[in-house]
Amino acid sequence: MIEELRKCTKCKNSYPASIDYFYKLINRNKKKNINELKLTSWCKTCFIESRKEFQKKNYNEGDQKLKKYHQDRRIEKGEQIRKRERDYSRQHKEMRAEYQKLWQNSQNGKMKARLYMLNRENKKHDIKNEEWNKCKEYFDYCCAYCGMPIEIHRKRIKKDFAREHAINLGANDLSNCIPSCFYCNSEKNISDYTEWYNENNCYYDVNRYQRITKWLETDFKKYISEKRKDL
Ligand SMILES: [Zn+2]
Ligand SMILES: [Zn+2]
Repeated sequence: MIEELRKCTKCKNSYPASIDYFYKLINRNKKKNINELKLTSWCKTCFIESRKEFQKKNYNEGDQKLKKYHQDRRIEKGEQIRKRERDYSRQHKEMRAEYQKLWQNSQNGKMKARLYMLNRENKKHDIKNEEWNKCKEYFDYCCAYCGMPIEIHRKRIKKDFAREHAINLGANDLSNCIPSCFYCNSEKNISDYTEWYNENNCYYDVNRYQRITKWLETDFKKYISEKRKDL
């Protein structure tokens, strides 16, 4: 059997045109041709190399900046602002709990829409940078749902992956967080991942599904920081 070869546009090496050597790409504009296998123009090796370089350059820089930001903030604004922040987050927690109750009893569409907005506002993950990096690493720096590599996401959306709540109203820590591209994140909307990510979804992949489940059930525990384990 003669295997078709594909030339990587970065390193110019030729490899078998398969998902062993290239990432699978889903063209969102042509949902009907979703079965057509599209491959990235860079080979996997080149993606991994550029990822390493990016991390070396940017993550360190980013961490430094973040550290400095917090230092400056502490020095400049002191205890007062931290108290205000604590009050704010407590208030929002109460509001969230209240609306959650309403949500469960409501059949009304309008109410649901309003709740969604409020909920969105208060639905912020509480995850350390290093936890988030480990999480992305676990999913091979690809969207946990559709498998889009992070480099392509950065190019198209100019942003990091979304810290996706697998269970919509679930925990805000690593136990409920998976990396998702902008597209999957907005399509999934307020559903829980099992409702949206199943055989009816054109981006569904059984291996990725199992990986998500494994992460949510047990594997996140390996990466969650010590302090949070007993929370
Ligand atoms: Zn290459
Ligand atoms: Zn995706």
